[in-house]
Amino acid sequence: MLFDDFANKLQQTLSNVSKLQVFGDKDFQKALNNVRMALIDADANVKIVDDLISKVETNMKTAKIPRGVTKTQMFVKLVHDGLVDILGNKGTAERILSPAQQQRRFMFVGLQGSGKTTTIAKFAKLTLKKFPKAKILLVACDTRRPAAIEQLDILGKRVNCETFCAEEGADAVRVLEKALEYSVEQKFDYVFVDTAGRQVIDDDLMQELGRLEKIAKSDETLLVLDAMTGQEAANVAKKFAETVHVSGAVLTKLDSDTRGGAALSLSTISGCRIGFMGTSEDLDGLEPFYPDRIASRILGMGDIVTLVEKAQENVSEEEAKEMAKRMMEAKFTFEDFLKQLSFVSSMGSVGNMLKMIPGVGNKINSEEISKMEKKLKVAKVIIQSMTKEEKKNPDLFYKDATSRTRIERIRKGSGRSQEEIDDFFKTFKAAQAAMKKLGAFAKKNGNVETSE
Ligand code: GDP
Repeated sequence: MLFDDFANKLQQTLSNVSKLQVFGDKDFQKALNNVRMALIDADANVKIVDDLISKVETNMKTAKIPRGVTKTQMFVKLVHDGLVDILGNKGTAERILSPAQQQRRFMFVGLQGSGKTTTIAKFAKLTLKKFPKAKILLVACDTRRPAAIEQLDILGKRVNCETFCAEEGADAVRVLEKALEYSVEQKFDYVFVDTAGRQVIDDDLMQELGRLEKIAKSDETLLVLDAMTGQEAANVAKKFAETVHVSGAVLTKLDSDTRGGAALSLSTISGCRIGFMGTSEDLDGLEPFYPDRIASRILGMGDIVTLVEKAQENVSEEEAKEMAKRMMEAKFTFEDFLKQLSFVSSMGSVGNMLKMIPGVGNKINSEEISKMEKKLKVAKVIIQSMTKEEKKNPDLFYKDATSRTRIERIRKGSGRSQEEIDDFFKTFKAAQAAMKKLGAFAKKNGNVETSE
């Protein structure tokens, strides 16, 4: 998972620091060295690391520590700011994902296997999520690899976008010209151009990209990079940036990259700013890259902003109010439980979500997360096997002799084992009790608005 190793090391250091009563010179040097080692182990470029460390050191000595802030808190803040600096500045994702006043053209470039074609489909999906009425044309300009054209066509269909397909062996420049003509005629708002990739950078490829960029007059040229190649991604980016005007980078496969060297080195070495990150193979697995939030997440300060945004995206205000009201009334049915589960799944994997909660992210290991995700799936199947009445009235299962018959029917209907069934009913009871407590607490403290 994204930056896991690096984050664990850094959080360990910072947590040791924050336990100190006195943050003496020796402690400071030791902490600084630990931060340095964590960055080096993450495969960040050494020069970048040394610059960051010396900046923290200088600022710690010269900066005025505001009242009410401890020295150790100041240290954490300076490390955070240093990380934000090297992860790149703000605003890249927002600029890239802005509305199209007139047709906006994007070129996607990158080495073969970096995830370019998948990223285009993900990007189209993300654009449609933000601008549901947008008309998007995908253009397959990788004319040397028939499989690439077919792949884009298939992915295009999955995200409901038309794909302009080149014939195998056609001249990429000619294909692009035709596609652009067509896109103007048909009034497409966005044109996303997939270009040829190579296993390594070669002059031929670079020349072709240069020509395509000129013809496309692209508003954005996005470089797709495989995060798992670590620092090497930054060197690749530097080479691409010498030929095309890379306006933003997409770092893919961050879900499989526990170190983070690519993200930590990219901006300083190549000047390319990360705009988006690939977080799974799934077509939903593309997220804007916000350096300050990522830095907070790495340091274990949590990423409440992302969490809230995601929640706002997925649950309407009415639903949230209704849920809160029910909590206060201490009603909690299987239907509510199912709604909560669907809400949790719609917010992405539980693992990702938990990681954003301050103080929780670093305490949960992946084994526990996958156990929980499995539990959620089982619970969904079980609830779906219940009748309407049962979903509304959990007491039916905890009441009398008929309860056992009901449970047996559900077990058979859902195809789950007795152990899973028992575990489910136990978990539901605990969730119900927790909700009641939470509701009572909220009522007492006036934290939940009622729907009057
Ligand atoms: P291209 O040759 O650059 O067009 O690369 P593809 O789009 O064909 O992707 C290569 C492989 O990487 C495919 O198996 C993708 O499913 C996978 N991939 C792309 N992006 C991601 C990502 O963010 N996470 C993971 N885990 N896999 C990805």
